[in-house]
Amino acid sequence: MSDKNGILVVAEPKDGKLANVTLESITRASALAATAGGPVSVVIIAADAGALSANAGRYGADRVYVVETPEAAVFRPGLFVDAAMAAIRAADPALVLCAGSPDGRDVASGCAARLGAGLLVDITGLEIQDGRFVVTHPCFGGSVIVEKEATTSPAVATVRPNVFAREEAPRDAEVVALSVGFSPSSLLTKVLEVVCENAGIVSLEEASVIVAGGRGVGSAENFALIRELAVELGAAVGASRAIVDEGWVHHQYQVGQTGKTVSPQLYIACGISGAIQHAAGMQTAKCIVAINRDPEAAIFNFADFGIVGDLNVVVPALTTEIRRRKAAS
Ligand SMILES: Cc1cc2nc3c(=O)[nH]c(=O)nc-3n(C[C@H](O)[C@H](O)[C@H](O)COP(=O)(O)OP(=O)(O)OC[C@H]3O[C@@H](n4cnc5c(N)ncnc54)[C@H](O)[C@@H]3O)c2cc1C
Repeated sequence: MSDKNGILVVAEPKDGKLANVTLESITRASALAATAGGPVSVVIIAADAGALSANAGRYGADRVYVVETPEAAVFRPGLFVDAAMAAIRAADPALVLCAGSPDGRDVASGCAARLGAGLLVDITGLEIQDGRFVVTHPCFGGSVIVEKEATTSPAVATVRPNVFAREEAPRDAEVVALSVGFSPSSLLTKVLEVVCENAGIVSLEEASVIVAGGRGVGSAENFALIRELAVELGAAVGASRAIVDEGWVHHQYQVGQTGKTVSPQLYIACGISGAIQHAAGMQTAKCIVAINRDPEAAIFNFADFGIVGDLNVVVPALTTEIRRRKAAS
């Protein structure tokens, strides 16, 4: 490793909290710091950044830079890059990790351009080998997984959500308030409105329960069975690629190697065979329940609970029973 100083995570504020991908990045960085030395720093840029700093310490940050300004109540690319750069100057890290989200990608590319640094995008693995950061990254639609090495110091990377565990490792993090003088050109753009296509529906990447449907669902119309069970459980909806390719649901719901990687507490797979490319996106779920009429389906090899049966019978029965229990409680 260079003489630079550990890893800096650029936090993504989300709904008054730190996004899961930020907590996952801090966890991974602090696991690496335990073997390679160097502190884990986090920069939080938000209107309420101070209030969010304790959570960074809870997941293993040694130092938290706080940039608190009302201007950061909404995402402003220039302002966030200015603030992240101030933290990079203060922390002097060997690696900067940003969220693999639309906002995180904006910040990462802005910082990499200003630093003249290498940008490692959409990483799904991060190791230190012979003192160098080595990342993995799926490409060509997920059919090839490449290993890349950071050749600049610092390097900048974006982390795919849900690929690293999120584990508490409480530290007494030092909180440092950073005062950043924003130039007028940094304030030229701001996000005016965020339109959430699925307002009221739990986001797939952040969900603790997911109900997913595959080709066994039979038709686009019958996917309503999956949605109804998800609503009763307060769960997000997921899908296999087979039914995305069929046009039954939008690609945003796809779980797997070429879709989203998820890591919920509970994943209920309905009519999904369990192909390796689907498993790649959900195998780290804490508990997997599979409903499939084929007892030989591959998904039963890694499911925690299996129900061999017709989903047209099992799923509505589950939905009805959950409704009944909710009404009774
Ligand atoms: C490069 C590459 C990337 C890929 N990326 C992804 C990805 O990101 N995500 C992904 O999901 N796939 C991906 N795939 C596709 C993957 O290989 C499988 O083809 C796909 O996951 C199959 O989807 P499925 O399980 O819904 O369909 P099928 O394999 O057709 O399985 C349907 C299952 O439903 C069961 N079934 C049928 N009727 C019922 C019923 N009434 N009740 C209960 N069970 C029933 C069947 O027994 C069967 O097991 C990728 C493939 C490649 C080559």
